[in-house]
Amino acid sequence: MTTLTAIKKLNIQQIRNDFPILQTEMRGKPLVFLDSAASSQKPKGVIDAISQYYESQHANVHRGVYELSQEATDAFELGRERVRAFINSEFTDEVIFTRGCTESINLVASCFGKKFLNKGDEVIISAMEHHSNIVPWQMICEEKGAILKVIPVNEKGEIIFEEYEKLLSDRTKIVSIVHISNSLGTINPIKAVIELAHERGVPVLVDGAQATLHTKIDVQELDVDFYTFSGHKVYGPTGIGVLYGKRKWLDAMPPYQGGGEMIKTVSFEKTTYNELPFKFEAGTPDISGAIGLGIALKYITDLGLDAIAEHEKELLEYGTKKLLEIDGLRIIGTSENKASVISFLIDGTHPYDIGTILDKMGIAVRTGHHCTQPLMDFYGIPGTVRASFAVYTSIEDIDKLVAGVERAARMLR
Ligand code: PMP
Repeated sequence: MTTLTAIKKLNIQQIRNDFPILQTEMRGKPLVFLDSAASSQKPKGVIDAISQYYESQHANVHRGVYELSQEATDAFELGRERVRAFINSEFTDEVIFTRGCTESINLVASCFGKKFLNKGDEVIISAMEHHSNIVPWQMICEEKGAILKVIPVNEKGEIIFEEYEKLLSDRTKIVSIVHISNSLGTINPIKAVIELAHERGVPVLVDGAQATLHTKIDVQELDVDFYTFSGHKVYGPTGIGVLYGKRKWLDAMPPYQGGGEMIKTVSFEKTTYNELPFKFEAGTPDISGAIGLGIALKYITDLGLDAIAEHEKELLEYGTKKLLEIDGLRIIGTSENKASVISFLIDGTHPYDIGTILDKMGIAVRTGHHCTQPLMDFYGIPGTVRASFAVYTSIEDIDKLVAGVERAARMLR
């Protein structure tokens, strides 16, 4: 007999009340925010935690012997521990705070690259990467004389796994791949990608920028070597991000930046470096950011990632069905395995014009190449209109989007 664990149904109206910005108006109309893939909105708990920190707890961390500095340090380190629990890493010192996903990838490309890449070595990425998982690798490959290899995608917007298998060789030093595509919504089979790379002794970085707000991440279960994400995309503040790395890699890599905090001893002759995670955290960190991020992750955990995923699946199915009823609308990214992102085009119209008209109706969507120009080139399009959903998105938001898009298409034709 199979036991079914009932997934709790979220009260979306109650959740919306947690987000002050959703109570505001845009262009005289209630805000319909459908750009959560670019940055999600913040619950009151996160906003309050940040102000409370500045009102009563602020001092620099890891330095003062005085009470206030210790309190700030404890609050900051609690943020780190909350990240550890959220991604289930084995050790707290495997969690490095950065400015965001972009900086996390740059850190690995630079430090891993300096240590392990040589002339003729190869780095594998995919054709659906965000620019931040392309350019840092191009830069280090250029510096080291290494070669960037790209896993192609099919028309649905899925990586072609057999091609990936063919690309892996004795020269491959690292694979760096996005978990969920920000332009298409495709969820990549990262577990299989990691397993295959590991069979050949190759480490894998997963860009989780779009994944952490939709799916449960367990870095131990995935056995991933590096996992990166940004606070602002998971209901947390801007300016803070995470690099998870296995100790064995972080220990082996040289530091990223030099300065305070990352050193053990300094003399003009020789400097020794601090332990993890501080070796990679030069200078005063984003203390309030780490606190806010911790609260954001707690918020998600309290709601339940299964329940969030269930709600977002409903939004994706409903939105896809309704949008496809619009004459001339084509969805870009049609994998069966998708997160709640819908990219589309309408025959005879430009995405920018659709976005501009929607804005007049108080509906915020993204238009353009979404920092994935090579992927747009693959489809032979300048960009798309992208609607992306989060836990606070309601069915009414989608109805407004569909009505708005219909109207915009009529006006433009
Ligand atoms: N990777 C993906 C898939 C993204 O969607 C983004 C942000 N759009 C990034 C990386 C970079 O994130 P950030 O700008 O927060 O550093």
